[in-house]
Amino acid sequence: MAGTTDVWTVRRVLEWTIEHLKKNGSDTPRLDAEILLAHSRGCPRIQLYVQYDEELGDDERLKMRELVKRRAAHEPVAYLVGRREFFGLDFEVGRGVLIPRPDTETLVVQALELAKLMEAPRVLDLCTGSGCIAVSIAKNCPKARLTALEISPAVADFARRNIEKHALGERVELLEGDLFQPVDGREFDIIVSNPPYVPDGEIATLDPDVRLHEPELALRGGADGLDIVRRIVTVSAKYLSSTGALLLEISSEQAESVVKLFEEHGGFQPARIAKDLSGQSRVVWARRKE
Ligand code: GLN
Repeated sequence: MAGTTDVWTVRRVLEWTIEHLKKNGSDTPRLDAEILLAHSRGCPRIQLYVQYDEELGDDERLKMRELVKRRAAHEPVAYLVGRREFFGLDFEVGRGVLIPRPDTETLVVQALELAKLMEAPRVLDLCTGSGCIAVSIAKNCPKARLTALEISPAVADFARRNIEKHALGERVELLEGDLFQPVDGREFDIIVSNPPYVPDGEIATLDPDVRLHEPELALRGGADGLDIVRRIVTVSAKYLSSTGALLLEISSEQAESVVKLFEEHGGFQPARIAKDLSGQSRVVWARRKE
C-alpha cells in the first residue's frame, strides 16, 4: 500500500486488500477485507458501502496495513478484531481462546431443546473457553442456571468478560479447574461440552489459521482424539440428575465410537447423534438411565 502518491480511498483499499488476501492466505478475502477495514475505521461494516470515495486518515491506513499483514500470515480475523459472533451474540476472543465455530451452534440448539422441557435446569459447560456455549444457553433459556468450567486461567478471563458483557453474572457461574474437580459432589440436569477432540496425528493437517494461531490445548485430544471425551463420559453420570443428559461435540468420524462409549458405560439410555448445518454428525448425546 505504501510507496504511491495516489489517494487511498475506501474503495481502493478494499480492492487492494482483497487481491492481496486472495493470494496470501484467506479463503474469504472480501469479507476479511471489509471486516478489517471497518475495524480500522471504527465503523460498522455496512457503512463502508456509503464511504467508498472517502479517503483514509493516516492512522486508519497504518492500522489497516498492520492488520492485513497479520491476516496474510494466517492470523484469524476474530483475533485481529478481538471478537466473534456466535448464536447471534457477540463474544470477546483473543489469542489463547478457541474461536467459536458455527458447528458448535448444533450443541447449543440440542441443549436448549432439552433445557426448555425442564423446570429450572442446572447446566454444566465443561471446557467453556470463550464461554460462548454457556452464555448462549443462558440467554435463550432464562430459567436455566449455568456453571462454566475452564482449566486455563487466562482463557477463563475471556469467559468471565463474556458473561459480564451479556449481563449474566447472576445466572452463569464460572469456575476454574480440571473437568469435574471444581464441582465435586454437585448435580446437574444437563452437561454440555465442546472438548478438545482432534486426533494428535491430524493437528499438523489443520488449516494454517487454526494450526498456527489457535490454542492446541483446546484442540488436541490424544491418539484418537477421544482422551477427554472418554474421561467425560466415564465420570459424568455421577454428576447427572436422574433425568439428566450429557451432550458432547465431536467430529463426524468419531460419532459411532462415541455412541459406543456411552453404551459401554452402561449408565446411559441409547445415545443419539445430531448433525450440523452441513449435514455432518456433530453432537452425541444421551440421557442417564433413571
Ligand atoms: N472443530 C474444531 C476444529 O475446527 C475442533 C474443535 C475441538 O477440538 N473442540 O478444528
